[in-house]
Amino acid sequence: MSIFTEVKERITAREVAEFYGLKVGKKGLACCPFHNDKHPSMKIDKFYYCFACGAKGDAINYVADMYGLTPYEGARKIADDFHMILEADADIDEETRKKVLETARKKEAEKKRIIRIQNQFREWCNQRIEELKCSMQVIEAAKQFFRNKPPEIILESNDFAILLHSEPIVNY
Ligand SMILES: [Zn+2]
Repeated sequence: MSIFTEVKERITAREVAEFYGLKVGKKGLACCPFHNDKHPSMKIDKFYYCFACGAKGDAINYVADMYGLTPYEGARKIADDFHMILEADADIDEETRKKVLETARKKEAEKKRIIRIQNQFREWCNQRIEELKCSMQVIEAAKQFFRNKPPEIILESNDFAILLHSEPIVNY
């Protein structure tokens, strides 16, 4: 039996949630901790489901989402905090367990790194777009300035030549 199956069979989402501080009222209703919930929108028993934000899952998902853990780490945390002696642990030796944990951690860290890079890139793009918009305004202003000027001034103006060259580049 995997650690996931075992933990889920031995504990409900409600027991776990209450242990970590969620107040569950009558009929198994609670204020959802995954969104700013003023009135109880979460039904919680073996599983939980929030009618407002759609958060749902089992005991392991609850802990994983609550503490930003991988499902494996979540299951581990429950097992540790509830002092469960797991059959799953008898099957695998310490070495393997550490390796699994390590891999899960690396995956999670990599995921976070990618999200961070994506955010930075998006921000960079937005800044460049803003800068380009500014340059377009400069070009537009210059065009206005050169409009109705005698052709010889325009042709002699070095700036105008630069503008002519830069506009297609900026607009691209
Ligand atoms: Zn919710």
